[in-house]
Amino acid sequence: MPAILDIPSARKNPNARRAWLPAVTRGFMNRCPACGTGELFHSYLEFNKKCPHCREELHHHRIHSIPCFISFFLIGHLLIPLALMVDMMFEPQLWVHFALWVPLTSILGLLLLPRVKGAMLSLQWAFCMHGFEYSALCDPAKPRKN
Ligand SMILES: [Zn+2]
Repeated sequence: MPAILDIPSARKNPNARRAWLPAVTRGFMNRCPACGTGELFHSYLEFNKKCPHCREELHHHRIHSIPCFISFFLIGHLLIPLALMVDMMFEPQLWVHFALWVPLTSILGLLLLPRVKGAMLSLQWAFCMHGFEYSALCDPAKPRKN
């Protein structure tokens, strides 16, 4: 594992880099990209200002509406082929399509949106984008404020 997972050793090593894949995985699972323990969200789509476990600052993100676009992109690429396959195989009536795909699309959207948002925050954190370059792991010389 890279030094990124251990914050104190990363502070000592100015060349420590953040591994983006573990960070994005943690963000997708609603966990802090730095420690993997604290939760990212304090409500459905509202991030904590700091990680409740390691105090890593999380408020630097510039996410805007890209998680919505990514979620709909993923859901569309998953459900449209499924809907076409079901239609070709079983030829159900139109009301069956509505009864099946409308709730499935809504539920998947609600489940996927916070996960994609967490993954986007973690990606920005991993690449030290926006204000994340001032956190302790990107700039070890700067003391961390608690
Ligand atoms: Zn943390």
